[in-house]
Amino acid sequence: MRDVQDHWFRQAKREGYRSRAAFKLTDIDDRKRILSKGDRVLDCGAAPGSWSQVAGRRVGRRGSVVAVDLKPIDPSGLPENVTLHEADLREMDLETLGAGIFDVVLSDMAPDTTGDPFGDHHRSIRLCNDLLDRVPEWLRPGGNLVMKVFEGEAYRDLLLRAGRMFERAKGFKPVASRGESVEMFVVCNGLRPAEDRDEEDPGGSEEMIPVPPRPKPPPGWND
Ligand code: SAM
Repeated sequence: MRDVQDHWFRQAKREGYRSRAAFKLTDIDDRKRILSKGDRVLDCGAAPGSWSQVAGRRVGRRGSVVAVDLKPIDPSGLPENVTLHEADLREMDLETLGAGIFDVVLSDMAPDTTGDPFGDHHRSIRLCNDLLDRVPEWLRPGGNLVMKVFEGEAYRDLLLRAGRMFERAKGFKPVASRGESVEMFVVCNGLRPAEDRDEEDPGGSEEMIPVPPRPKPPPGWND
């Protein structure tokens, strides 16, 4: 497994990507047709910036990428069509994001892992639901969404919620994602028009129940 990871790490260096995460998005896009030339893309949880590199290249000069992360992103060498925001995505709105509805929303957002798989899973689910809450306003009907989630007991409900909002919503494990990692990508094509959406369960506003930390994460957890 280590060899496989070294392979993606070396490949990222060779192709000038900031991290091997780039190959997760290229694989998703090659197979699921998420990005098109001229698209306006929101990249959530974008640091250090490899998804923005991929998206910026793939949407071309007529397209654009708005990248948001809690951490700063080094602008040097990024495609010119990428703009950066250092912020909590959940505190942004369309105006602070630069206005204009998006064609595609990408999220590789992940909570800081604590070594407690149950709590980490629920924090990841919470981030995804917070994003889904914003999707009807931020994404155009027909638009696509990709979001990372740490798998666990609430994964199925998340997938069902996404399935009510989009024409297709499926879990996908890219080839560059560690085999033993719990990360999964929910790939959603075609946001349904508001009148066809069945959104009775927003799911994002429940309070988290604190859970005691568990001592040792499984191998590959902190991907
Ligand atoms: N896709 C990135 C790339 O290719 O370079 C890697 C993203 S990294 C796995 C996950 C990121 O999500 C972290 O940098 C973290 O700061 C960010 N993040 C987590 N919660 C966030 C939030 N509420 N708002 C913005 N960014 C967030």
